[in-house]
Amino acid sequence: MLAAYITHPDCVRHDMGPQHPECPQRLGAIRDQLLIKGLLDHMVPHDAPLATPEQLARAHSALYVQELMASSPTEGIVQVDPDTSMGPHTLRAALRAAGAVIEATDLILSNQASTAFCAVRPPGHHAEREAAMGFCFFNNVAVGIRHALNVHGLERVALIDFDVHHGNGSEDIFRGDQRVLMCSTFEKGLYPFNGEEAIGPNMVNVGLPTRSGKDAFRDAVLQHWLPALDAFRPQLIYISAGFDAHREDDMGNLGWTEADYEWVTEQLMALADRHCQGRVISCLEGGYVLSPLSRSVAAHVKALIRA
Ligand SMILES: [Zn+2]
Repeated sequence: MLAAYITHPDCVRHDMGPQHPECPQRLGAIRDQLLIKGLLDHMVPHDAPLATPEQLARAHSALYVQELMASSPTEGIVQVDPDTSMGPHTLRAALRAAGAVIEATDLILSNQASTAFCAVRPPGHHAEREAAMGFCFFNNVAVGIRHALNVHGLERVALIDFDVHHGNGSEDIFRGDQRVLMCSTFEKGLYPFNGEEAIGPNMVNVGLPTRSGKDAFRDAVLQHWLPALDAFRPQLIYISAGFDAHREDDMGNLGWTEADYEWVTEQLMALADRHCQGRVISCLEGGYVLSPLSRSVAAHVKALIRA
């Protein structure tokens, strides 16, 4: 069974300005690198559909969804937080990004794909139940997970987040939802300046010291994530895949390389083989310097599709 590659041209049209790191060129750089490495030959392309308000309201409040949709400008920009703004094309991109994870979920749970990579933007893991922040509007992965739980009736889903920043939005949405086990690593002391406090048994969020390097990351995966995940026995695994911990990305200081993204993905694929027939859905989050971003995604996707 082939893997799915889910994206949409609308995701390139969202633009927060020429100096903004979360730039439209990210998706083209990723596609080029996957093409050059021959990885797209092993994947079936799918257009991301637009998520519906009903689907979004499984992870966000209905009022938040309604208000964000109503604030979409026909021209100019609307600032939603100091780093995050909506232009005329933002809402459609955000709806496609969340729709991509819904599509991935449907494809995998109907046995039409074994794994999926969602090459989408805006990212999602900072978006809380009732707040857009940190370049994120809707929490794409959270919307997909609630679709798997509430529509497909899954009972146990894992959410892995290896972005250099803490996925505060996912933590906010899944706090207290015992159907979801969230396992993450993030660099301590970085935006959004939280995540170190344990907020419940379904959260295994490991803060890593600045410049701790790959060994600290691998120890966190082996000693904290995997024992919890094996005990949880997930029926489907989602990855909030941010690549901004790469040593060439100036957003963080953890010093990882492509080899670390390949390694962690191999660990997660082995976990998926043990518990859920190899079913893994990965969705792009951060990663801002185009060359290391695209090389890291290629290393991740290579392991994800076992090419
Ligand atoms: Zn990040």
